[in-house]
Amino acid sequence: MGRRLTATNADAEESLDQPKTAKNQSKAVEAPQEAGLEMKRDREKRTNRHQSATAQTPVTSSTWTIENSEELYRINGWGEPYFSINAAGHVTVSPQGDRGGSLDLYELVNSLKLRNLNLPLLIRFSDILEDRIERLNAAFAKAIARYNYEGAYRGVFPVKCNQQRHLVESLVKFGKPYQFGLEAGSKPELMIALANLKTPGALLICNGYKDREYVEMAILAQQLGKIAIIVLEQIEEVPMVIAASRKLGISPVVGVRVKLSSKGIGRWGTSAGDRAKFGLTIPEILQTVDMLREADLLDSLQLLHYHIGSQISAISVVKDAIREASQVYVELAKLGAGMRYLDVGGGLGVDYDGSKTNFYASKNYNVQNYANDIVAEVKEACVERGIPMPTLISESGRAIASHQSVLVFNILSTSDVPTGAPEPVREEEHLIIRNLWETYDSLTMDNYQEAYHDAAQFKEEAVSLFNFGYVSLTERARAERLFWACCQKILEIARQQDYVPDDLEDLEKIMASIYYINLSVFQSAPDSWAIDQLFPIMPIHRLDEEPTKRATLADLTCDSDGKIDQFIDLRDVKHVLELHPLHADQPYYLAMFLGGAYQEIMGNLHNLFGDTNAVHITLTPNKGYQIDHVVKGDTMTEVLGYVQYDSEDLVESIRQQTEQALQEKRISLQDSQLLLQNYERSLSRYTYLSS
Ligand SMILES: *Cc1c(COP(=O)(O)O)cnc(C)c1O
Repeated sequence: MGRRLTATNADAEESLDQPKTAKNQSKAVEAPQEAGLEMKRDREKRTNRHQSATAQTPVTSSTWTIENSEELYRINGWGEPYFSINAAGHVTVSPQGDRGGSLDLYELVNSLKLRNLNLPLLIRFSDILEDRIERLNAAFAKAIARYNYEGAYRGVFPVKCNQQRHLVESLVKFGKPYQFGLEAGSKPELMIALANLKTPGALLICNGYKDREYVEMAILAQQLGKIAIIVLEQIEEVPMVIAASRKLGISPVVGVRVKLSSKGIGRWGTSAGDRAKFGLTIPEILQTVDMLREADLLDSLQLLHYHIGSQISAISVVKDAIREASQVYVELAKLGAGMRYLDVGGGLGVDYDGSKTNFYASKNYNVQNYANDIVAEVKEACVERGIPMPTLISESGRAIASHQSVLVFNILSTSDVPTGAPEPVREEEHLIIRNLWETYDSLTMDNYQEAYHDAAQFKEEAVSLFNFGYVSLTERARAERLFWACCQKILEIARQQDYVPDDLEDLEKIMASIYYINLSVFQSAPDSWAIDQLFPIMPIHRLDEEPTKRATLADLTCDSDGKIDQFIDLRDVKHVLELHPLHADQPYYLAMFLGGAYQEIMGNLHNLFGDTNAVHITLTPNKGYQIDHVVKGDTMTEVLGYVQYDSEDLVESIRQQTEQALQEKRISLQDSQLLLQNYERSLSRYTYLSS
């Protein structure tokens, strides 16, 4: 573990290798050889949308439609077929894709709130999970039929992606028709997998670092009827497996993880390559073959595995890896190993920004292209060398688990840069103020760039004059107001331009409102903080209304990193999100999508904000829904317990202090009781603010 949080700077730089600006150019979209119709359609759609976006006519509030919101938040790009917007301007969820009913997310949240399930709230749609499993299996089935591949596909879900019990249980259930298995990356995950996977014929892939106990359990599991495959990741594990097998008198099923020299790209590019953390080099694999042959266990070596990193955004990388791995596979078979399985690991990407490009937050291929390329490549290598075609395994985590959960949270308040026309300057006001007024007053389309520099300089001068006592506090406030007024005017002009000069790029950010969210980024979207991952975020209602504000999001923690100021965009990323002004006494809900993989378990208790409430929803045949499980978020007593505080001791301490204060007549009896009541009640409450 810790793999993803310890990404080095080198990793980060690699992810920038792809030219971001080229994101929307057609050359960034590599058409896979076997590109299905879907891919072509996607591309056409993308181009069309792009054209309509450039042929902009200014949209006024009264003409704003849900189509404008669709385009702005790119919901069709990343949300299809599960998320869209209805005529009421609310986000809807179609958990069974285009084959079933849909739910109004805003109404669902309101009805959950009536059941005392407060925000922030994680809503899991079990039907989406089922649909993802079906799609992945259908894609491989289609590819296998298309290429007359003489082998099967048996996917496994990598438990590390989301270990929550209800999710793993549903996954095993939904996977049954496909003999979908599990992959364990550690000893505790092996515990989960061994106990939960009972599907006959499904595979249990045992990865990660192993000790004797781990290996023995995996071997003995065969006698429970499980196909547990021990994947050797370190050369030291070979003698351990041989010894355990001798001791138990059972032949293990063994695989090797190869360090391919085909490199991934992006954040996890270094998961592959000769110096990767896991896996055996080619010489080590040959050494393993020798050791197994000597122990008369070469027949047990049945699987070849590789994993070149997560979120592979370019299909060319997938192809390079499978080409190299196929050759290793056939060579191992030629050497006499009992090869039967080829496991291509994870990496199947998710299109977080909906751009369908090789940008790091996207991918330039679909599941069908992925399956086609793997099946075709393996078949070719096997046919050429006369080797039987293996059962294909993939360990797709992100692609299975990301879509099923939606995190809904509310806005607590906002902070805006003051705007509106300033009062005209008077003759007797300070020169610096008159200069700022002059800049503001004479600002036009022709001089806005120069005016920005003037205004910034005058404002700086005003501050330094203030520091030397030449400008009063009132005058400084006036200068700042005028500066913001200039910026506002400049921004309005800049937004009308096709091209915004570089030095004005920060202006949107400077002028953005801050929306305070009832959420901890560290708990609920750790990858957004740790590795700048992008998730689609948007309001779930008022989408028939123009979002006139530009905002960044600030979370509840008192950490300045607890913010979100990178949002998905068609090109690159944008630093402000379009949102609606708050209405007094009306809640405003946002949702973060596609966060169902990795975020929950990597989330931490920074500032002691605990797990959020979570509910599991399934559709019912009569177009309704049912709540399968409610997993209440942490209470304060629970999070305080994690750091060894006992809530009874805490209450007792407060009680003693109030008694003391009572005796010394520093507090009234009534106030002391109020304090105690609040303290005690809070302990059993949610760690987030009540909405
Ligand atoms: C993390 C991991 C996966 C899952 O990768 P995704 O990109 O989420 O599909 C699969 N296999 C191994 C060995 C992993 O470490």
